Amino acid sequence: MSLSLTRSHLANQKGNAMLDLDAEYLSDVHRQFRAELRKFVVNEIVPHAESWETDGAVPRQVYEQMGALGFLGLAAPTEFGGADFDALGTVVFGEELGRSGFGGVAASIADHADMALPVVVAAGTREQQRRLVPDVAAGRRILGFAVTEPGGGSDLTRMKTTAVRNGDEWLLNGQKTFITNAVSADLFITVARTDPAARGAKGFSLFVVEKGSQGISVGSNFKKTGWCSSDMSEVFFENFRVPAENLLGDEGRGFYVLMQRLERERMSMCAQCIGMMERALEITLQHVKNRPAYGHTLWDLQSIRHEMAGYASDLTAAKLLIYHAAAKKSRGESTRLETSMMKATVPQLMKRLVDGCVQMHGASGYMRGMEIERIWRDTRPFSLGGGAAAVMLDEVAKLL
Ligand SMILES: Cc1cc2nc3c(=O)[nH]c(=O)nc-3n(C[C@H](O)[C@H](O)[C@H](O)COP(=O)(O)OP(=O)(O)OC[C@H]3O[C@@H](n4cnc5c(N)ncnc54)[C@H](O)[C@@H]3O)c2cc1C
Repeated sequence: MSLSLTRSHLANQKGNAMLDLDAEYLSDVHRQFRAELRKFVVNEIVPHAESWETDGAVPRQVYEQMGALGFLGLAAPTEFGGADFDALGTVVFGEELGRSGFGGVAASIADHADMALPVVVAAGTREQQRRLVPDVAAGRRILGFAVTEPGGGSDLTRMKTTAVRNGDEWLLNGQKTFITNAVSADLFITVARTDPAARGAKGFSLFVVEKGSQGISVGSNFKKTGWCSSDMSEVFFENFRVPAENLLGDEGRGFYVLMQRLERERMSMCAQCIGMMERALEITLQHVKNRPAYGHTLWDLQSIRHEMAGYASDLTAAKLLIYHAAAKKSRGESTRLETSMMKATVPQLMKRLVDGCVQMHGASGYMRGMEIERIWRDTRPFSLGGGAAAVMLDEVAKLL
């Protein structure tokens, strides 16, 4: 079916067909990064990712390949093998991964490189960074971010996992769930309550935990509707011993570190949405311009042209907000309002746009094997993870 379009079409697209935001916002280094990453996505991800969807995970060697090419260390300091990129780097990274049209691949790789790794960089001591960052940036060790629990996702203060100090170790007990990369990860960043008396957001601490030792176990790979190429499962801690040197940041301040890092996570997720919307529009424009109907093509129907023009305008507006916020963040300013606004609106916009694109494909758009059908399934998690839409609107309202 339309999978054969994928390579040539991706390779020929400029990526900013409507407004050249690259010229406005990006440096030569960002643009070179985009060009190289796009080439990698087209040649090394798109042709193979359908089989990763079947296998339920991105293979380890893809991380190693990407690490060797310098793609995974964008959040890391140069002295530890990273590129020390700003927020515009995050946007380029997310957008290009999203343009692959495989939400699961984008989620797994961005989770490792641009959501979990930045927490180690932001909260870790120099010694922790020296010990952990080079292997993660090189793709030799895969990283996951284990926060959500069965009893608490949006309301993180309901987390039940505990960590009790025992000499020069911590003993962790509890359960995390819906964790992207849980099966493939070697390391997790996790959160546990370290002060049982503290209330609200106080008394939580961050830890880096390493798989493989006694007391930590992972469930089987969850069967999801979309993001099929990213593995996901539960993580169980049962008297799991974590060395004291793996406490990340100050004891009792874990929640606040997480909150600070959310701006980057939200920017990354929204950039992935932009890439997926761009890809959905490309495929659908090609389809409607070629699909014969009523003696002409679908494109010759004004209602179809208007709908496509509306989607292109929405996409451009969303993209402008993201590039504006990333430029602001790169200048060191807070983007809490912008990132909350974008996380509240961009995934919803994407769902509407991609659903409309499926409609324009007719029945073929609903068939397994069609790229637009997979993108449609892959849109759903973006308005759940990293802050549900309603929670984001609460954040926006607090700042109005
Ligand atoms: C594909 C996928 C990958 C994920 N990967 C990870 C991961 O790697 N690590 C991790 O820790 N977690 C991960 N998650 C979990 C994700 O972060 C949670 O699903 C999310 O935080 C929502 O929590 P919940 O599922 O418990 O839903 P709940 O918190 O129970 O919320 C359910 C719904 O209630 C509504 N709601 C919640 N709060 C409010 C409010 N204040 N006002 C109004 N309505 C509200 C929203 O509609 C929300 O979607 C992943 C989830 C998915 C789907």
